[in-house]
Order: sequence, then C-alpha cells, then structure tokens
Amino acid sequence: GPPPRRVLERVVEEVCAALVAAEPELTMMDQAVGDGDLGISLARGAEAVRREFPGYGEDPAAVLRALSATLRRALGGTSGPLYAVLLLRAAAVLEEAGGVPAARDWARALAEGARAVSELGGAEVGDRTMLDALVPAADALRQALDGGAEPCDALSAAVEAARKGTAATAAMTPRRGRSSYLGERAVGRVDPGAEAVAIWLEVVSRTVCE
Ligand code: ADP
Ligand code: MG
Ligand code: MG
Repeated sequence: GPPPRRVLERVVEEVCAALVAAEPELTMMDQAVGDGDLGISLARGAEAVRREFPGYGEDPAAVLRALSATLRRALGGTSGPLYAVLLLRAAAVLEEAGGVPAARDWARALAEGARAVSELGGAEVGDRTMLDALVPAADALRQALDGGAEPCDALSAAVEAARKGTAATAAMTPRRGRSSYLGERAVGRVDPGAEAVAIWLEVVSRTVCE
C-alpha cells in the first residue's frame, strides 16, 4: 500500500473534516447534557490540526505526539487534556514498538491510550463518558486481531463496538464530568464525548480500508 505517512495524512484530514461537519450535532448533544461546547471545541481542534499538520514529523509516533500537543492547546473543556493524554500514551506505545507499526501495535496504542484517559479522569466503563466507546472498541480490535482477523475486519469490529458502547450510554446515569450534575435527567440521551469517538473511529476505519 501507500507509505504510512500518506495514509496517516489522509486519515487525519478525513477525521478533521468529519469533526467539523459534526459540530452542530455534537453541540446539540452537549447542550442537552453538558455546557454545549464540545462541538465547537472539537471543530476548533480540527482546524488547528489542519493548520499544523504540515509541520508534524514523519513517523506515526511523532505524528501522534504532535497531534497531542496541538489538541492540548486547541481543545477546551474536559476533552482537551483527555485527548492530549490519549494521544501521548498512544505515541509512546508506537515508539516502544519501533519501526512501521503493525495492526497489533495500533491496537495496543488505542488500549493504552484509553487506559491513560481513565487514569487521568478517574472514569471507568459505565460512567457515561468517551470511555464507553473507546474501551469496547479497543477490546474488540485486540480480540479480533488475536482471533486472526484481517486488520480491516478487526477495525470494523472496533467501530461496531464503539457504536454499541455509545448507544448504551443513553441508559447510563452520568457519574463523571459536567453531565453528572444532571443525574437521571441525562438518561435517554447519548453521551456526546462517546459519540465523538464513534464518529472519528468510523472515519479512521473507512479511510484506512476503503
Ligand atoms: P466539559 O464538560 O468540560 O465542557 P467537553 O464538552 O470537552 O467537557 O467534553 C465532554 C465529554 O467529555 C463528555 O461527554 C464525556 O464523554 C467526556 N468526559 C467528561 N468527563 C470525563 C472523564 N472523567 N473521563 C473521561 N471522559 C470524560
Ligand atoms: Mg462541554
Ligand atoms: Mg466546557
């Protein structure tokens, strides 16, 4: 296939475009259960990434590290530090693996990134956060690869798990973040941070595997 930097460049561009397009939807969702800034925040992050991507390094670990730095500055709210730490930990995993990362290395990067989010924010699966999309996706990816699935089939399984996990947040009482102030009143609505994860993961899968 094409060189990794080109694939990564296309994935990043498609994810940025999708997050900008999702701004109204994510704004409405965060207005319903939070303070309404998630759509604008992620769109602003995407614009910053588009501007700064040409200066990112060549190898995937360097790109993830630079993405982390951009998003730490450009994202507001709770999502900023959480995405920054996710990407930084993922970069460290790829660095440690060395060479051109294989599907398994990306799977471990996603799993360890999700773990870093949990460590920083104190949330676990079931608390109605982005982790309800991230953790099932990372688990599904690893399980599929362990079972011998092709990388793109494993990615499809991860997207499906993220979608299922996101849908399940509608039945959860929030315990973390701003929507925890709403308590039971958030029930029936999907967590916007989880929805954002499902959106970008789906785009990653589509772009890598089309
Ligand atoms: P804020 O509430 O500060 O405005 P954002 O709008 O940037 O935060 O992000 C809201 C999303 O962040 C939530 O929908 C949820 O998915 C996620 N989130 C909130 N708190 C946590 C946490 N402690 N751990 C993981 N994710 C969290
Ligand atoms: Mg918010
Ligand atoms: Mg906010």
